[in-house]
Amino acid sequence: MQYAEPVFRPPSESESLILQVTLGCSHNACTFCAMYRTKRFAVRALSEVCGEIREAGRRWPGVKRVFLGDGDALAAPAGFLADVLRALGEAFPGLRRVTAYASPQNLLEKTPEELTALREGGLSMFYLGFESGDDEVLKAVNKGVTAEETVAAVLKGHAAGMRSSLMVLLGLGGRDRSEAHARRSAEALNRIQPHHLSCLTWYPVPEAPLYRQIERGAFTLPDDEGILTELGWLLSDLKLTDTVFRANHASNPLPLAGRMNRDRDALLSAVEAARSGHLPLVPAFLRGT
Ligand code: SF4
Repeated sequence: MQYAEPVFRPPSESESLILQVTLGCSHNACTFCAMYRTKRFAVRALSEVCGEIREAGRRWPGVKRVFLGDGDALAAPAGFLADVLRALGEAFPGLRRVTAYASPQNLLEKTPEELTALREGGLSMFYLGFESGDDEVLKAVNKGVTAEETVAAVLKGHAAGMRSSLMVLLGLGGRDRSEAHARRSAEALNRIQPHHLSCLTWYPVPEAPLYRQIERGAFTLPDDEGILTELGWLLSDLKLTDTVFRANHASNPLPLAGRMNRDRDALLSAVEAARSGHLPLVPAFLRGT
């Protein structure tokens, strides 16, 4: 495979074949994100992608999982993605699942019929940067959508039969909007009922515009105590019937995992124990993006 670096994938796709069908991110404007700043968004040529698929099929016919890159592969036209899914099915007879990053905009732009056809073609789950359910935070970080639009987008994906894995970014409201960020995120997530939910903590990277806001004193990231408090507000307000919950990303001060709402009390107890110093935090030098 010929990869255009940098390449990112969700941690749970470590066993998957990564296939770049798009390059970069079609939005590429969130102030907290530096992932694709060095790339110009493009949909790759179908002939090139299908050539790579055929070659990968010859070399690794046993592939069972494929992750479509880059930052929002669902930005590609539905017909193009349908052709890619068909080629994947032909190259890998044992293929069990295909997943991709998607933005709310991608899902809103596609018709219900297009999403259903992609689901039937094998695209079974999307990963989506939910970030926050607070419109002030979403506007401040230039996410390009409101919370209402994000809810509608994910529900549209669910209606097509796709599963969702959403990411919330702790700390994104700064100290000032920490509580609103947590509580409004819970409200929106309760309406969505995602299948998977991950909490990451925003980690300042110099290439992200938000980093420069910190340097200017225009944004203050909550400290560990503040992040734990925010996580506690979020967990307390979440009412999820059956969601796999993870907060064990390398960026988090306290690794947590469970199933919501079944494990909510245990998760909240762990947060409280950490806040009172009875549970150790991951040392700052071991954390990262
Ligand atoms: S957070 Fe997602 S949508 Fe925003 S710029 Fe980064 S990759 Fe693109």
